[in-house]
Amino acid sequence: MRVPFIAGNWKMNTTVGEAVSLVREMLPGLDTVKNVEKAVCPPYVSLSAVKEVLEGTSVKLGAQNLYFMEKGAYTGEISPPMLAGLCEYVIIGHSERRKYFNDTDETVNKKIQAALGAGLKPILCIGERLEENEAGKTGEVVTGQLKSALEGIPYPVGFVIAYEPVWAIGTGKPATGEQANDTIGLIRRTVSELYSGEAADDVRILYGGSVTAANTAEFMSRSEVDGALVGGASLKPDEFLSIVTQTAEIR
Ligand code: PEP
Repeated sequence: MRVPFIAGNWKMNTTVGEAVSLVREMLPGLDTVKNVEKAVCPPYVSLSAVKEVLEGTSVKLGAQNLYFMEKGAYTGEISPPMLAGLCEYVIIGHSERRKYFNDTDETVNKKIQAALGAGLKPILCIGERLEENEAGKTGEVVTGQLKSALEGIPYPVGFVIAYEPVWAIGTGKPATGEQANDTIGLIRRTVSELYSGEAADDVRILYGGSVTAANTAEFMSRSEVDGALVGGASLKPDEFLSIVTQTAEIR
């Protein structure tokens, strides 16, 4: 059985002080919820401080990105060994990074390899843009992104995929549960083709895109959906806790 996973992507929000206050506010509630894996992904500069607050609790920590080189003259970048030991997860290939910071299928592949090499668990984000969706290309786009991201990589145990339709991220216009379930089912079948049936049974595939407390049940009641990557709503303690609690109740 796959343990459901809810991860909060704080994006470029919170100073260090705000991040610590936010996680302190969420933690008592989150920590009591069983049978759901929970993680928060604050900005790089807050990872250490948030890690201290999370010490000894059931809430995991993730980063939002990394660079694939180990060290060197790459001003402003953060390498896998810098994150290893600091956090367990790392989001890779988020559509905002693909859109604003030139992440490509090729660099996403390198980042996944680098993350795994450092013992980090990638949360790989894939998803189609609005025009691709409207052109009926969702399946083609997400399976293409998945195959490129995993090319040459043996099945990574502990690997997480987030299906995030770009048109649903931060727009308040989520996919329907049925759309999410169908596309995640296709992604799972592709994992089976690429690796094995066991890999497909093992891999957790989340939905992301305008998930809120109000629509959590719509997604979590679907058999293929293993959890959610939550952006905006993960910055609101009551809302995030409600998403996690509802997930525990439904699954
Ligand atoms: C995200 O950042 O991955 C995301 C899904 O954002 P939001 O929940 O705000 O749409």
